[in-house]
Amino acid sequence: MIPVLAKLLGRLFGGARGSGGAPDDRSGIYLHVRCRACGEIIRVRVNRHNDLSPIEDGDGFHVRKSIIGRHCFRRIDAEFTFDKAYRQVDATIAGGVVATREEWEAWEASHPAPAPAEPS
Ligand SMILES: [Zn+2]
Repeated sequence: MIPVLAKLLGRLFGGARGSGGAPDDRSGIYLHVRCRACGEIIRVRVNRHNDLSPIEDGDGFHVRKSIIGRHCFRRIDAEFTFDKAYRQVDATIAGGVVATREEWEAWEASHPAPAPAEPS
């Protein structure tokens, strides 16, 4: 990894300190993607102990996720790569693009979860 690129990606993905998650959720890594079809920003939780697979002949981990948001049923297939310190270093997303936690928070704030339907 080129240092400048790593730095840029670190900023893009918020780095280790900005990776989100509740303080008591030490095994969770939170990632954010934007659906290319509807623009929804979806948060994805990855369990660093259960979900990550070591990269063959390399240092680090990767995980594949199939993500479906609330707004549309378009499936987003994502693959995230992490270094040994569980920092996100790469992402390949089919059907979406990488988003930041700030973008997700803004999206959540302007699109509150729909209230549960009244039982009829
Ligand atoms: Zn969508």
